[in-house]
Amino acid sequence: MKCRKCSREAVIFQQYSGLHLCERHFTINFEARAKRAIRKHQWIQPGDRIAVAMSGGKDSSALLYFLTSQFGARRDVEFFAICIDEGIAGYRDPAVAERIAASRGVPFYTVSFADAYGLTVDEIVERRGDAVSCSYCGVLRRHLLNRIARELGATKIALGFNLDDDAQSVLMNVLRGDLDRLVRPTAPVEGLVPRIRPFRVLPEREVALYAHLHLSGFEEEGCPYSHNALRADVRTMLNDYNYRHPATKFALVRLGEELANLGGSIASSLHACEECGEPCTDVCRACQILREFEGK
Ligand code: SF4
Repeated sequence: MKCRKCSREAVIFQQYSGLHLCERHFTINFEARAKRAIRKHQWIQPGDRIAVAMSGGKDSSALLYFLTSQFGARRDVEFFAICIDEGIAGYRDPAVAERIAASRGVPFYTVSFADAYGLTVDEIVERRGDAVSCSYCGVLRRHLLNRIARELGATKIALGFNLDDDAQSVLMNVLRGDLDRLVRPTAPVEGLVPRIRPFRVLPEREVALYAHLHLSGFEEEGCPYSHNALRADVRTMLNDYNYRHPATKFALVRLGEELANLGGSIASSLHACEECGEPCTDVCRACQILREFEGK
């Protein structure tokens, strides 16, 4: 098929827009949409020091490429990369993320669960079985990423979450009946570095294509524990439904945004944990998990 905008070969068909696009027009379309999301949410402002959470996978690598190619020339904004090493043998290799950060000319920092907590995800799985891998890993990673980003002076944390990730998160919160997360205010919380997600309007397959067109050397293997996440079931269900109703993921992300706006008037339920000092709800889940493994 030919590109709708010129006569070159198309590299993608966007089912939801009906457009066939060549490499050049896909890139223009992709970057324009991410920049529109940034403008809409005022995600990048003068003086920002933005920590890009780097796993070394396609999403975070594409995000670093996009941010540095679009905003890297600005003197009033700084970027650096942080890689959290959860301790998953044969999967997480910070050297991959480090090479990509070096290729984009940004400072790189890495910190491991082993150093920060004296505990790895592989050890958690060995002790508790792999059904808990993702729930424990997710809590500990967010906790550590926030702390390290804050200590390094970040004003924002940029996450490579795409449209599929965000739509899945909204649906997971609905399926769990987790109203608190659905309406959690987006207002600033003391100690919590604000998150930005420039790719939340872009489908996963388009982020993957963008990464393949502009980068090489990123990690393509998935985590060996990913099949355990509720997210894996929701992904399958949502992809199946979205195939027949292509606007569904966009609708879910919009719903999530509108619910979060409703929550803007509710006082934040987050406060500083008495033990670790990080923002948490009633009970600090990270401290709870670490207590469970004390003296392991
Ligand atoms: Fe951690 Fe689960 Fe993600 Fe693997 S899939 S990195 S265990 S949250």
